[in-house]
Amino acid sequence: MKLVCCLSSFVLAAAMSAAAAPSEYQKFSYDEKAYVPFDAATTVTVECPDSAAAGWLTAHLKEWYGDFAPKVAAGATGLAAEGNEGYAANVDASGVKIAANTLAGVRWASYTLRQLAIAKRGTMKTEGMILPTLSITDAPHLAFRAVHLCWFPETRPQQIERAIRLAALLKFNYAIIEPWGTYKSEKHPWRAWPDAPMTKAETARLVALGRDLGITLIPQLNCYGHASLARGCTSKHSALDIHPEYEPLFEPGGWNWCLSNPETQRVIRELIAEMHENFGNPPYFHLGCDEAFGAQSCPACAKEPFGDLALKHFAGLAEFVRSRGARAMMWHDMLLDKSDPRWKDFVKFGNATTAAILDSLPKDIVICDWQYSYGNMKETRKDWPTMGYFKEKGFPVAGCPWMNYNAMKPMADYLVANGGFGFIETTWHRMRGREWERMFMSAAHAAWGSPVSHGVSFERSLRMIGADMKVSDYLDTGHLNNQVPHRWWGN
Ligand SMILES: [Zn+2]
Repeated sequence: MKLVCCLSSFVLAAAMSAAAAPSEYQKFSYDEKAYVPFDAATTVTVECPDSAAAGWLTAHLKEWYGDFAPKVAAGATGLAAEGNEGYAANVDASGVKIAANTLAGVRWASYTLRQLAIAKRGTMKTEGMILPTLSITDAPHLAFRAVHLCWFPETRPQQIERAIRLAALLKFNYAIIEPWGTYKSEKHPWRAWPDAPMTKAETARLVALGRDLGITLIPQLNCYGHASLARGCTSKHSALDIHPEYEPLFEPGGWNWCLSNPETQRVIRELIAEMHENFGNPPYFHLGCDEAFGAQSCPACAKEPFGDLALKHFAGLAEFVRSRGARAMMWHDMLLDKSDPRWKDFVKFGNATTAAILDSLPKDIVICDWQYSYGNMKETRKDWPTMGYFKEKGFPVAGCPWMNYNAMKPMADYLVANGGFGFIETTWHRMRGREWERMFMSAAHAAWGSPVSHGVSFERSLRMIGADMKVSDYLDTGHLNNQVPHRWWGN
């Protein structure tokens, strides 16, 4: 039992009801019939050792509620929060109290209250909010809780910002950003499509935004397979289609980098350094490395045993990332032998040679084990032996679901029970529509071990972050750009 604190000073009203889905991390009770003002006459008392907490809360309540924002005062609350990111909050007629041990905990508390607050009744325009009388203590299931966001040329930049803001509101604390030929490198501009939207300034803006909201952005660069930075089913290549002169850096066909070419090694390191610095030198860098199909086939690579070549590549890049004060992350699939019967029904694309690399890899690499319940997205598997395997081998392992919604909570539970590193919700090209909703909401539930603020809708959460962005374009509302597909109007 992670949470032992009870809010004994708070007298619960007779109508107080317990949360529908109790979790070992959360105690939540509220009186849905007893709302109290949450407006300019309200004082929010914050108890937190971080002296920046009250200022952060004041600024954000002002941002969210304008002239009707509650006041903030630092002081004793009589509440106790658990752990680094846990929080406790209390709402009654005397005001609002928040206790947390870090600014992160204060952020999560404020997001919960924001999700539960509604506009005061009886006026045409909002003149302050109201909150149900409530008592809550909460703490996350896992310390590392990430979403993985792909920035395609087709992705509206606003959609990326919306996803980052929404992930923070749902209390994820990391977002891995994978540009698909959309990062505008100043050192190697040929690596991206023309007019790449992820400029240095836009990247820095999103990183700063994330930092303020409590979500750290982690860059990803595909350093082995997926070197086209385009979906394989499209035959596109973000470098070679426009700049064929860079062919020596890639294996014939362009899907994998040519690992034996010293220029490849130089270019990749320069790109890593540029992105890592642009992202504000975060504690992790994701090297990609999934789906590196096809052996290294060029005559130069063929001169060296493939296992040696790949190990030198991975270990060298991990060392380079370490030299920058960060840790490397990589997808797992080439590190499992697809002929090994233990991995039947699990994602694995390696062979005996690539799987053998694992024993010699630096143990500080975070293995990101993506398991998508291929063939049955409805399963509710409890055991994740591939994750247990990487853990046994001495690696920090992150469980990475996608649209296998029912598997998310059991996967998070397995990671907690087995000392896993964290949880990464992947979204790929499906981050729109109901799939976006189910991915974010189910993953947030899994990562925290408790439902998202008790019935608070995805729709309302989207509207909140839309208000923060001051969206005015139809395309940046809702979970789809358009409500009627354009193709319906054709001919
Ligand atoms: Zn080669």
